[in-house]
Amino acid sequence: MTQTEPKVSSSIDFSTDGKHHGHLNIPHSRNDSGWGALHLPIVSIRNGDGPTMVLTGGNHGDEYEGPIALMKLARTLDVGEINGQVIIIPALNYPAVLAGDRVSPIDGVNMNRAFPGRRDGSISSMIAHFVHQKILPLADAVLDIHSGGKTMMFSPFACYHQIADAGVTEKAKQAVLAFAAPISLELVELDAEGMIDTAVEDMGKIFIGCELGGGGTTTTDTVSIAETGVRNLLAHFGIIDEQPQSLEDRGLTPTPLMHMPDSDCYIISDDAGIYEALIDLNSPVNTGDAVGQVHFPRKPEQPPVVYRAARDGTLIGRTHKALVETGDFLALIATDM
Ligand SMILES: [Zn+2]
Repeated sequence: MTQTEPKVSSSIDFSTDGKHHGHLNIPHSRNDSGWGALHLPIVSIRNGDGPTMVLTGGNHGDEYEGPIALMKLARTLDVGEINGQVIIIPALNYPAVLAGDRVSPIDGVNMNRAFPGRRDGSISSMIAHFVHQKILPLADAVLDIHSGGKTMMFSPFACYHQIADAGVTEKAKQAVLAFAAPISLELVELDAEGMIDTAVEDMGKIFIGCELGGGGTTTTDTVSIAETGVRNLLAHFGIIDEQPQSLEDRGLTPTPLMHMPDSDCYIISDDAGIYEALIDLNSPVNTGDAVGQVHFPRKPEQPPVVYRAARDGTLIGRTHKALVETGDFLALIATDM
């Protein structure tokens, strides 16, 4: 083993045809298991050379549409119905998923800030390193399924980023439209460094993201959007032979493609207190409209501080928790493209 090879190994040979349920072996020596390892489930379904998609869920451990949709897909997708390869990781931050927390209980690391990872880093960093070195290079396109977790709530959207390569940006946009979430969004990240998104895009590959709900749970709608979106992408990339199901096919109203012209789209709290949302998700807003207000339980006589939209658009995300701190995300506004 050279010093650049991951310390993590896989029980699956990703170059062999067939359907393989296996695991990544991550060394994890600890008090209750001296020579222990963490076994992180991974699935490869391969039928000859062809387009390859990597599908990940549970990047954050309190977001459940991804793990649910991807476990169902891994059980039901038959090798005979595909062309190429699908690699499925239902719980990318596996310890976080088992704990029901956003970040890993082992090292406190947010998996989506751990890329490209380190071979000799903490558990999360070793997982990111293996995925970066051994899985992402196999992919033509990567879907990472998110939702708002315990602290945020989103109007379900699929998203891509505008990157330097206009050709790859356009392919990602077409894939997002094929996913057919109720909203398709060109997303601007608050903090893109260390994300799997950025790692994939830096390899010149197509990345598709999504935020499908939140609150630390799922709904029948959000799981259905995830399941349909995944199959739509497999169809879009020619891995399965079926027609993508459009929003109209499902009796839903398509919305215009949306974007976020700048970081003014994010409303961040300058106060600590109790947040009261004054408008609901999917509401149209104009610049200056009150979106929510923060109350001060220690000083009931003090009026709340009102937070206002800095641009026209639609409210597509909000804090789910009511008790907020300074620096917390309060709301997200996107505008029609
Ligand atoms: Zn997430």
